[in-house]
Amino acid sequence: MLRLPGFAYLQPKTLKQALAMKADAGPDAAFVAGGTDLYPNMKRRQQTPERVISLMGIKALRRIRGDSGDSGLVLGAGVTLSELANHRRIRSAYPAIRLSAQSISTPILRNMGTLGGNLCLDTRCNYYDQSYEWRKAIDFCMKKDGKICWVAPSSPRCWAVNSSDLAPVMVALDAQYVVVGPSGERVVPAGRFYHNDGINYLTKQPDEILTGVRLPVPNGWDATYLKLRRRGSFDFPVLGVAVWIQWDGATVRAARIVLGAVASYPQEVPDAAQAIIGSALEDDAIEGAAQAAFKPSKPMDNTDFGLSWRKEMTRTFVKRALQELRERRR
Ligand SMILES: Cc1cc2nc3c(=O)[nH]c(=O)nc-3n(C[C@H](O)[C@H](O)[C@H](O)COP(=O)(O)OP(=O)(O)OC[C@H]3O[C@@H](n4cnc5c(N)ncnc54)[C@H](O)[C@@H]3O)c2cc1C
Ligand code: SF4
Repeated sequence: MLRLPGFAYLQPKTLKQALAMKADAGPDAAFVAGGTDLYPNMKRRQQTPERVISLMGIKALRRIRGDSGDSGLVLGAGVTLSELANHRRIRSAYPAIRLSAQSISTPILRNMGTLGGNLCLDTRCNYYDQSYEWRKAIDFCMKKDGKICWVAPSSPRCWAVNSSDLAPVMVALDAQYVVVGPSGERVVPAGRFYHNDGINYLTKQPDEILTGVRLPVPNGWDATYLKLRRRGSFDFPVLGVAVWIQWDGATVRAARIVLGAVASYPQEVPDAAQAIIGSALEDDAIEGAAQAAFKPSKPMDNTDFGLSWRKEMTRTFVKRALQELRERRR
């Protein structure tokens, strides 16, 4: 059995206290929310903070605001995945978020895991998500303690995968993330919160806290999310497809198509969106978008299933997502 290393557990009640604790501890401290990602990583010694600062006692992070019906919602980063998936207005107005949140891990982990933790999830790789002894036996990789990438040994960068289910949906919706740090608050479009780099995967600084997510007003657009994985009951995605469409009567005025779990960031594919703009999602437009998404989808051999089959499934899943949105419009 893997055991947690020793650490001090701090419980701030306000954001100000949390930021002060982080400033005091510097790189030796990590924020934690539900702990469903950080604690397994600590057991595997991928992260070894001496102080862990829990965000769960900060009430301001635990709310969903703007439930009046005519405004976009503001989701607190500390809202659990279960609260998110079961929220009345999320269920009625943001089906892509509901689908994504309720597909994450298991009911018990969804009661613990939070929106913020999901959006800041560490990137994943078969050579990294292993015990310390396993990683030591093959010699560590550059993401932690080593110098080489075992997936692409001649590569100067890490290709670990962004496996968050909610991140591609937030990028497709063009949600705005609210981040607070020592120099105040800033708002970042979801698409600019992620780097295509398995080690430096967030543009957020380590001493910044994601406090919430502003969703767009649900007027005239629709979105969905499809997830590929081995076991429907609890696996991480090996491919996620999030699609957002702004309708203008029967035709598509604007669109965003985002792939999850095939790169170190949620990968937007503008050419695929371009293929359906101006169409009524006829079969040939959908085929064009599926083909345009297939081309840049380049999964690496570091998660479940064969990479060429996962790439092929990009075409299938984009097609299915667009067909679903077309059926809903009829
Ligand atoms: C068996 C299993 C299956 C899983 N399946 C899936 C899956 O299918 N899909 C999926 O997306 N995830 C999955 N997960 C991962 C995880 O459970 C979820 O992503 C969850 O939402 C993480 O949230 P958390 O609050 O527990 O994160 P934590 O573990 O608390 O934190 C994760 C990271 O985010 C940082 N962080 C947390 N909150 C904030 C904040 N507000 N501001 C700044 N930094 C913050 C932490 O410092 C840490 O680095 C799975 C995990 C397990 C163990
Ligand atoms: S992609 Fe390479 S460097 Fe990154 S975690 Fe995997 S083996 Fe390590």
